[in-house]
Amino acid sequence: MNQNKLNELQAHLRANEIDWAYLSDPGHIAYFSGYHSEPHERILALFVPQLGEPFLFTPALEVEAAGESGWPYEIFGYLDSENPYQIIADTIKKRSHFLNKFAFEKGSLTLKNYELFTSYFSADFSADLTPVIQKLQLVKTPEEISLLLEAGSWADVAFEIGFSAIKAGATESEVVAEIEYQLKKRGVAQMSFDTIVLSGANAAKPHGNPGSTVLEENKFVLFDLGVVWKGYCSDATRTVSFKEPNDFDRKIHQICLEAQLNAQAAVRPGITAEKLDQVARNTIDSYGYGEYFNHRLGHGIGTTVHEFPSLVEGNDLVLEEGMCFSLEPGIYIPGKVGVRIEDCVTVTKDGCIPFTKTPKALQIFG
Ligand code: MN
Ligand code: MN
Repeated sequence: MNQNKLNELQAHLRANEIDWAYLSDPGHIAYFSGYHSEPHERILALFVPQLGEPFLFTPALEVEAAGESGWPYEIFGYLDSENPYQIIADTIKKRSHFLNKFAFEKGSLTLKNYELFTSYFSADFSADLTPVIQKLQLVKTPEEISLLLEAGSWADVAFEIGFSAIKAGATESEVVAEIEYQLKKRGVAQMSFDTIVLSGANAAKPHGNPGSTVLEENKFVLFDLGVVWKGYCSDATRTVSFKEPNDFDRKIHQICLEAQLNAQAAVRPGITAEKLDQVARNTIDSYGYGEYFNHRLGHGIGTTVHEFPSLVEGNDLVLEEGMCFSLEPGIYIPGKVGVRIEDCVTVTKDGCIPFTKTPKALQIFG
């Protein structure tokens, strides 16, 4: 669990005269409590009062697992036959006599659960926790950074497995299967998203899905992957070649690499999020391929694979030591070639440290 961040959340509640916060996002619940779970349609919640002890609320079948996660405070469970909100309301009313204001995660609580919860109280329900939590998560602790580094080193292992699976006749899906099979055998329980392996022109679709396409010789293979390790995510991309590429593809790779390295070299406390995006974009623009870099430079990473800050035009957030995010320029020329190179990094006193170490210069296999 993360007692310091919980304290900061409680300080926010006191400063804003919020009596209780209702956290509903499983990634955020994991961040504060240390308990990771995906409850599907059942209720998983963390309730935090402005003073005193918070409590976790889980399906009855998860109470034991939640207790083993290291959460030191109370855990309440409910059976499928019970009304969860009756139990929650009784628990809260037993602990607080004055209930004037609640805060919710408007970015994640369903309207149905909001209506069920609020029907037990008469109070101010307008406060939104989503931006508050996003801000609390912006700067990572040294413990979080070391877990992000561990998650990153598993991504390096995944690349190694994937690169050695590049061979004539292999399909994209087979390479994905090999990566995930080998990682799971080594104790990685979960990928942070479905592994992406795309060959040739497929790599020009930034969000393409791997399928039965056989790896094309003399073309690129794009790998975008990450794992969840002790609750923290990795996310990295390498674009490599299956046998010698043509000169044009090689040039596109070189431009993308230059953009990625320029952005990485520009990272330091004091620079804004949008400025980093600009550095990468200007590099690609200077070669005339700006129109083919059609997404933001990067996103924050932590207990979830996409969080704050967003490295995008218009975000004037000033970067600080301990912030963690991806740098992932891409150049996608439809029907021809796609290249993306991505590392997640953490901002240090005078630069940054990447979480993944797999070489980024063009590698040729097969
Ligand atoms: Mn990413
Ligand atoms: Mn990625």
